[in-house]
Amino acid sequence: MPTITDQLSQFLAKKDHTHFINGQYHAGEGEEQITVINPANEEVIGQVAVGTKADVHQAVMAAKKAFQHDSPWRTMSPDDRGKILYRFAELIELHSETIAQLVTLENGKLIKDSRSSDAGGAAKTFRYYAGWTTKIEGETLDLSQPQKGGRQNFAFTRREPIGVVAAIVPWNFPVSIASWKVAPALAAGCTVVLKPSEETPLSALLLAELAMEAGMPAGVFNVVTGDGKTTGAALTAHPEVKKITFTGSTYTGKIIGKTAMDNVTGVSLELGGKSPAIVFEDQIDFEATAKGVAAGIFRNQGQVCVAGSRVYIQKKVFDKVLTDISHIAQKMNISHGFDETADIGPLVSKGHLKKVCGYIEKGQQDGATLITGGKTPKEKGYYLQPTIFSAPDNRPSIIEEEIFGPVLAAIPFDDLEDALQKANDSQMGLAATIWTKDISKAIKMIDRLEAGVVYVNSPVRSDPNLPLGGYKQSGIGRELGKTGVYNYTTLKSVNIVF
Ligand code: ADP
Repeated sequence: MPTITDQLSQFLAKKDHTHFINGQYHAGEGEEQITVINPANEEVIGQVAVGTKADVHQAVMAAKKAFQHDSPWRTMSPDDRGKILYRFAELIELHSETIAQLVTLENGKLIKDSRSSDAGGAAKTFRYYAGWTTKIEGETLDLSQPQKGGRQNFAFTRREPIGVVAAIVPWNFPVSIASWKVAPALAAGCTVVLKPSEETPLSALLLAELAMEAGMPAGVFNVVTGDGKTTGAALTAHPEVKKITFTGSTYTGKIIGKTAMDNVTGVSLELGGKSPAIVFEDQIDFEATAKGVAAGIFRNQGQVCVAGSRVYIQKKVFDKVLTDISHIAQKMNISHGFDETADIGPLVSKGHLKKVCGYIEKGQQDGATLITGGKTPKEKGYYLQPTIFSAPDNRPSIIEEEIFGPVLAAIPFDDLEDALQKANDSQMGLAATIWTKDISKAIKMIDRLEAGVVYVNSPVRSDPNLPLGGYKQSGIGRELGKTGVYNYTTLKSVNIVF
């Protein structure tokens, strides 16, 4: 078990954490508090304030002020803005162990994942977008019609920062998903109010401290902690917010989308998934495939939006591949996130564990066969065994609904057409993986899979330069990559006639 860093001990010693508004901690107006629990042992880590409408208003107005045309942030050169983002990335790296430990404490995830995905991923994302500040560009355009009176013209577009951004993030990758929103928004020149999840609010506050240390002007990056129904709702309904970027459940995404339209606020939604992994019989290496499929579902306890939670296996090799994946699941070491030998940690909360267990029960009632797992192995902490079902077809509801836990359903298929039909038979369309050595088969599948991200012979991994987002009810818009930064710009079309 790693020793808790001094920086983290000092941070946690505060116990009652407040919002971060206009460059400083801010106690807020409300009385209500959220208790942050360590999912590994159910101990209290700290308390955060539930942001009221007034707190949200203060944060949004601070962000609006920091966005004024003559503010330090707006008058800064893109090069200097990039330097601050780069410094922020370096500070995240410098304090990565503290960040990773805090994420493991509040989320329960394995420390190696907190280090690589959250602390490491956020540093990479900020560094990547630091480079984008100097590359935002419009276009010059030849118009399709001549100007009146034979006059000449010069037409072009400019990309301008959109304004105050509300970033609402979930608990599964609290730091890295925050970075996917905050980094491109700041790179574009916007200012941000971040609302972390009620389960994992502390790491966002630590990020805000580092942003100040990096030299970000006050008001550019604010954090309001709180729940969805009060704090999140107030933020998304605020008329001075010009863009909402949300990652979370499809259910909440629909509510946010409707609220956004009341003020005609721009909105990007990265929502749920029920992503298929499609295993053809023509494998080069069955062991690697089984490992890849298992990693695709069990990483982060299955609490991953792109998790491959439905595996379609070609009939001839169905039993073999299912047995291989089951053996991997059975050998996984279930332990707390600080145990460096752990393969699977606790789920994020008691409520979430209950929800996932409810799906396991429902799966059995619906006629799916439980192959392995399904039990909660420890008295303390929100642990669940990696669980695998098999089913003859897509009928059981566990194959349609996002479970967001370490639960895999295996279904056989006949041929490519059958695999496509079954894989696309879902309301969701976030990601898919294809496991084959036949490149022509893979390309045929890529062409027709209804998914925003497709990986071949690998579980889905995020990368700052690879856009992420979904088809169908998995979302609207893409984040990361060039698209990610352009999300936070608005286009001005100009025509100079002379
Ligand atoms: P989960 O139930 O797994 O936490 P959600 O999609 O509900 O998933 O939550 C993701 C984020 O959305 C969290 O930060 C949460 O507080 C926030 N949220 C929930 N409901 C709302 C809402 N009505 N308006 C704005 N934000 C919300």
